Amino acid sequence: MARSTVLCGLAALIATSCMTFAARAAELPRLRVLATGGTIAGAQASATDYGYKSGAYDVNSLLKAVPNLDKLAVITGEQLASIGSQDMNDEIWLKLAKRINAVLAGTGTDGVLITHGTDTLEETSYFLSLVTKSDKPVVMVGSMRPATAVSADGPGNIYNGVAVVADAGAKGKGTLVVLNDTIHYARNVMKTDTTSVQTFASINRGPAGVVHTGKVTWFEPMDRKLGPATEFSIDDLDRLPRVDIIYAHANMSADLIDAAIRNGAKGIVVAGVGDGNMTAAALDVLTRAAKSGVVVVRSTRLPAGIVLRNNEVNDDEKGFVASGELNPPKSRVLLQLALTRTTDPVRIQKMFYEY
Ligand code: ASP
Repeated sequence: MARSTVLCGLAALIATSCMTFAARAAELPRLRVLATGGTIAGAQASATDYGYKSGAYDVNSLLKAVPNLDKLAVITGEQLASIGSQDMNDEIWLKLAKRINAVLAGTGTDGVLITHGTDTLEETSYFLSLVTKSDKPVVMVGSMRPATAVSADGPGNIYNGVAVVADAGAKGKGTLVVLNDTIHYARNVMKTDTTSVQTFASINRGPAGVVHTGKVTWFEPMDRKLGPATEFSIDDLDRLPRVDIIYAHANMSADLIDAAIRNGAKGIVVAGVGDGNMTAAALDVLTRAAKSGVVVVRSTRLPAGIVLRNNEVNDDEKGFVASGELNPPKSRVLLQLALTRTTDPVRIQKMFYEY
């Protein structure tokens, strides 16, 4: 065969595969990864070392470690923060939420994946689910083992997280959390184990679905109002009201409640014993605080169950709010947002029923 014929054949082959690639890329969802740090980006001194530093790897290194991601989506990455999520704060929440709303408002992005530490993932995800104004998929992933560990769980979680963003069923479900082959609604999920990869659970309601090697199965729908339907907007906010959580226990004094209010707390969430109970001393001080305009929410330190209004504590008389299914960190998130709208405990109680 003449040399020129071979070269022409080769050129045609390259052109065809380029066209096939371009056509396939045009069909794939366009996904933005926003990285914030966490163990998923963590590095150990050696693969068997116990300790590690959170947030050591950047977003591109994280994505490069996951094979076949380009078959699921066309992905671009942005580094928003590089912290262990124990250092997560209101400022980064607002930055992250504003960035998500901006990215999803455009036509160029079909969904967002957020990499995040697991310690406060349950709080960030609930915050985002209440303030994201798009129904495009937003999925959060983390990992329990650092990127350098034997059997690191991060790459599998990223792969499954991308598959969930790319799944048509993820639309309109609010912020989702994907770890260890399980999909959770932000409102329901909590971290339950200090070190196990099976740490996230939706204890009261069960998970939103499962995802195995990128194959997604959905379970029950979410029946609470999500970002596009909430009354919360963070567009003009550069800070959130201070809300503190006080942990109840036998012989609890009111000293920490007093200190929180003295230091500017506009709301107090009590991680109560049992069904949101606390000592008479704590109740007295909180009753006075509620009368003076501080909003008091009774939650529980227990991992399951519902804090009922007017059960052992007369919430109507004292002007308190009962948290229902929301645990203390999630109650804190909702109360912070509620306080951007009102200090009326009756209105805020309604929000705890609706969101
Ligand atoms: N302390 C870490 C963090 O929350 C733990 C983790 O990511 O698993 O960033």
